Amino acid sequence: MISNLAYYIISAVIVLVILLGIYLMSRVKTARLGNGLSALGLLAATITILLKYEIIEIWQLHIYFQIGIIIGLVMAFKVKMINMPQMIALLNGLGGLASTIVGGFALYQIGAGADTFSIISSVLAILIGNITFVGSLIAALKLSRIISQKPVRIKFYGVFIILNIILMVALIFVSAFIKNIELIILLASLILSTLFGLIFSLSIGGADMPITISLLNSLSGVAASISGLAIGDPLLVAVGAIVGASGLILTRIMAKAMNKPVLHIIMGKTTISHKQPPKEKEELKETFIQTKDPYQIFDEAEEVIIVPGYGMAVAQAQFLVKELTDFIKSKGGHVRFAIHPVAGRMPGHMNVLLAEVDVDYDDLYDMDSINDDFKDTDLVIIIGANDVVNPSAKTEEGTPLYGMPILHVDEARNIFIFNYDTMPGYSGVDNPLYTSDVHLFLGDAKVTLQEFLNHYKK
Ligand code: NAP
Repeated sequence: MISNLAYYIISAVIVLVILLGIYLMSRVKTARLGNGLSALGLLAATITILLKYEIIEIWQLHIYFQIGIIIGLVMAFKVKMINMPQMIALLNGLGGLASTIVGGFALYQIGAGADTFSIISSVLAILIGNITFVGSLIAALKLSRIISQKPVRIKFYGVFIILNIILMVALIFVSAFIKNIELIILLASLILSTLFGLIFSLSIGGADMPITISLLNSLSGVAASISGLAIGDPLLVAVGAIVGASGLILTRIMAKAMNKPVLHIIMGKTTISHKQPPKEKEELKETFIQTKDPYQIFDEAEEVIIVPGYGMAVAQAQFLVKELTDFIKSKGGHVRFAIHPVAGRMPGHMNVLLAEVDVDYDDLYDMDSINDDFKDTDLVIIIGANDVVNPSAKTEEGTPLYGMPILHVDEARNIFIFNYDTMPGYSGVDNPLYTSDVHLFLGDAKVTLQEFLNHYKK
């Protein structure tokens, strides 16, 4: 239906549209347009491939198209913003599953007469696709707390991982040299990759989840690209490579932000925390002396930094945070936001929430560009953030947080904390800030912030 020349030209245009979309996503103001463009590009790529290879009839295309639109719309409207990280993990996983299916079909269809390159690509697509699928499912279950977020480590984890990789490489060699054993190869690939995805993902501790998710995101692209090689389709190779490369860049950024080499995480070098039982709210409120009236501190503060975290997303407090920001500005204060790269539960989580309420993008500062300014700051206002400001990361060796660069909020003159309670954050490491000279506003941030702002409305 589509000639080869037309197919290559359309493919090139689609790839450029997707790249343009990704480029536009790097700025908040154009991010929505970029997202829309890339989504359109992917849709066009899917339709083009279906038409080019005449995989299904046009009327079927219409039906599947409508079904896809309905499922997509239901998901988009039903999934709450707070559940977006697990949703993304799930979508990564589906990408991996799609590559596994393409790899599996390619292995069967090309069969005995196939060239070695196609067979190897098919097996690789099955292996990487299925690791992505199983690993992402576990990550989604952990993020939604259906299974425990604590790392579950088998004995001799490192030996298992290395042995599994050796067996996978051996399988690839076998598949290249011994013909007519496609079913055995397929089953062995599925077993090895399922075990790898399961054991690896279960072993990941809370604090290492951001790197794992971006790694799985990248793997879903790599798997797609390899499945494109298996069926000899340049468009799938290119689009998969774009996803794989951008995922790898993100993984690098996350690993740098957390000061943890990716290889350490794959080899299970994470420390397991032992969460202490939470202290009573009342008991903790009395463990420090509030030297000054918080409203007086707030009134006098000229340099203010707001640190948002996952709790702001849970409370949906971003609207009130915007109100607070406008209020500080209206009384002559200078207010900025300090955004930690792993704040929240997905890359860019805080940026998305703050953009939703039209916080000026120029007021958002990443960790490296604002960390030196805390010492000259009158007031830091923490909204539902814990691990990203936990000073234990600098001192408590052997904990999952140790070594992760944090926002230096403890250097500021005053600290307000609007967190739910004094339990540890995602990593399970106690936060000594709670027992220092800070002002705690415990409870749902939407309620406590509203109460705080109401004080000025009286
Ligand atoms: P955090 O360490 O999970 O701390 C969130 C804080 O907000 C906790 O003290 C929590 O209290 C509080 N909170 C929860 N609900 C609240 C509410 N309704 N009102 C007010 N406070 C509320 O979050 P973070 O400081 O943003 O750090 C992110 C953590 O998630 C890091 O450990 C990071 O490694 C991990 N992570 C990040 C990503 C990513 O891609 N960004 C992905 C996966 C994991 P409770 O403890 O009582 O709930």
